[in-house]
Amino acid sequence: PGSKRSKQIHAVSISFDQIGGQDRAKQELTEALDFLVKQDEIAKLGIRPMKGILLTGPPGTGKTLLAKAAAHYTDSIYLAASGSEFVEMYVGVGAGRIRDLFKEAREKARKAGKKSAVIFIDEIDVIGGKRDGGQHREYDQTLNQLLTEMDGIHSDEAPRILIIAATNRKEMLDSALLRPGRFDRHIGVDLPDKKGRLHILRLHAANKPLDESVDLERIASESFGFSGAQLESVMNEGAIYAMREQSGTILEQHLAMAIDKVMMGEKTDREATA
Ligand code: ATP
Repeated sequence: PGSKRSKQIHAVSISFDQIGGQDRAKQELTEALDFLVKQDEIAKLGIRPMKGILLTGPPGTGKTLLAKAAAHYTDSIYLAASGSEFVEMYVGVGAGRIRDLFKEAREKARKAGKKSAVIFIDEIDVIGGKRDGGQHREYDQTLNQLLTEMDGIHSDEAPRILIIAATNRKEMLDSALLRPGRFDRHIGVDLPDKKGRLHILRLHAANKPLDESVDLERIASESFGFSGAQLESVMNEGAIYAMREQSGTILEQHLAMAIDKVMMGEKTDREATA
């Protein structure tokens, strides 16, 4: 037990430039990260180290991308795990996995000669949900271990560990996680506005043969309410329609069909779970 390892990305090459829209989230995140980078200065002033950043917002808006970009920006090792990986039938296994994750982050950073490591925990609500009197005892141990690890982070420690967690259900989180010195920085990652959608569409069109006649602004207008992940799907599905019709380039009609398809997909998903 405890050896089931999370999906890890060793070489992170996502930069903030590759994330569309989310200007405010990017700015807030880089401000927080600048703080992390100036750790020596901060220790001298006796300021407590920043340990945890919580990214909140709907699915597919780029939270994982932001965590990767944070690692890239701070020249850190990047390790990722999802809350659901820590849920086990046997008591103590989840806690052991948390311990291993932190140990691994320190070892990997040292080996790579990096000063810091970013640990990304997606779906933090799975282990960090509100505790309700003994019902989820196994989750409690896992959460307690996470809190213990976070409390054990010191400003003069090398390598430095920064935990970035993501959730789309912030109101579900146990208040112990949100206390000062834990996840005390919250950054909202919302659905993109029109400008953001255009930016995201442009990023995902970059490697595709888009026809000159395509008006991406119009596509951005028509995709109101779409997440970054859905916009990525629109570009991808559009390319598939173009291929099916043996069109050498992606035309606006292909993208229009792709928008419908992505929208329908959402509907059927929802109907299926309803
Ligand atoms: P979840 O809450 O479901 O884990 P998430 O917010 O972490 O979602 P990501 O995994 O970062 O979302 O995004 C999924 C994919 O959607 C990305 O790999 C990318 O292709 C696309 N995407 C999402 N947001 C953006 C964005 N702002 N800019 C460019 N691409 C994006």
